[in-house]
Amino acid sequence: MLHSGEARKLKYPRESTLSLTEITADAARSEAFDGHECIWLGRDDKRGLTAIVAIHNTALGPALGGTRIWPHESFDAALTDVLRLSRGMTYKSAVVGLPFGGGKAVIIADPKTGKTPELLEAYAEMLAALEGQFFTGEDVGLTVADADFLRARTPNVTGTTRGGSGNPSPVTAEGVFLGIKAALRHRLGTDRLDGMVIAVQGLGSVGWSLCEKLHGEGARLIVSDIDAARVKKARSAFSAEAVPADAIGSVEADVFSPCALGGVLSQETIPGLKARIVAGSANNQLARHEDARLLMERGVLYAPDYVINAGGLINVAAELAPGGYDRAAAMARVAGIPVTLLDIFERAEKQNLPTNDIAAEIAMERIRAARRS
Ligand code: NAD
Repeated sequence: MLHSGEARKLKYPRESTLSLTEITADAARSEAFDGHECIWLGRDDKRGLTAIVAIHNTALGPALGGTRIWPHESFDAALTDVLRLSRGMTYKSAVVGLPFGGGKAVIIADPKTGKTPELLEAYAEMLAALEGQFFTGEDVGLTVADADFLRARTPNVTGTTRGGSGNPSPVTAEGVFLGIKAALRHRLGTDRLDGMVIAVQGLGSVGWSLCEKLHGEGARLIVSDIDAARVKKARSAFSAEAVPADAIGSVEADVFSPCALGGVLSQETIPGLKARIVAGSANNQLARHEDARLLMERGVLYAPDYVINAGGLINVAAELAPGGYDRAAAMARVAGIPVTLLDIFERAEKQNLPTNDIAAEIAMERIRAARRS
């Protein structure tokens, strides 16, 4: 891809080796573009930074979304990733009623080997230069310690330890836990977890915390992770049954909870699903938006990913509230996730539409109303 946008004059140290270019016009050629308002490319060859900040829609407020550090195989792959994620943030904020727009950033680097202090310094300069257009925080590859590092250099960073809300993952897990209960209530008429079988894919920050909550209320867990040490730990901590990574999506269970990767629900995998409910934290679980219809036709209740996993976003957004971070207020808002989900489930049933269509409709209606006012 060519980057023909003009380098705009933004404020960052004159001696900086960072170059910041608006690439919206070039990015508009991507299939994933979807009317993004603005895309920035930050480059600093000396400090190893290639970062894209995508701002999808700011009708409801400034763009808020995490920064992912990942060694994408190409620039175009990174661009597609950031555009999809950024669009998802617009819907996520809107559907849970937050006064923020959608944005996201990716830094093309291996978080294990390429995430140097110099790279993060250069990225902090990029964020500062964007002057409040974009608020960010943790995502895959960017830890709370990294957020602290960035926050010490630029103000628009959330999920930090000092004065911030810390790691969002346990809050995301709480929202998923409450969302699973809402789905059980809707589908089976009970939200009691004892005796329920829940298949959890991925035992990372969210998956592990979710397993703790489910186990605490007596659910029987079937788990998988590509990290054998995590699986071993889960077997011992939760008496979980372990299955190979490629088998978790088709085990006999009441709920399948994808908490690892996106794209796990597709034309290929959906026919093998035995669970009656899919409810997990992973972003972009559906390979294609239309695959939600396949789930509906199989009688599987799907909790739209960006609704059930909004807890972390709600928590970091609370940091930006006028009075500062208030954990109780954030958790009260997370308790609204199952209420939103139940509304979506009921409307989907009444209108015979997939749940993700209803979620998108609610989000779009809020964005349209904000544009009108
Ligand atoms: P994480 O990196 O801590 O954990 C992911 C886990 O999935 C790891 O243990 C990894 O080994 C495992 N994994 C990877 N590939 C796998 C596979 N094929 N099969 C089974 N396990 C596999 O990430 P996380 O913060 O726990 O997030 C999990 C998912 O939830 C991601 O999709 C993330 O984008 C999404 N999400 C997270 C948050 C949050 O607050 N952390 C918020 C919203 C959405």
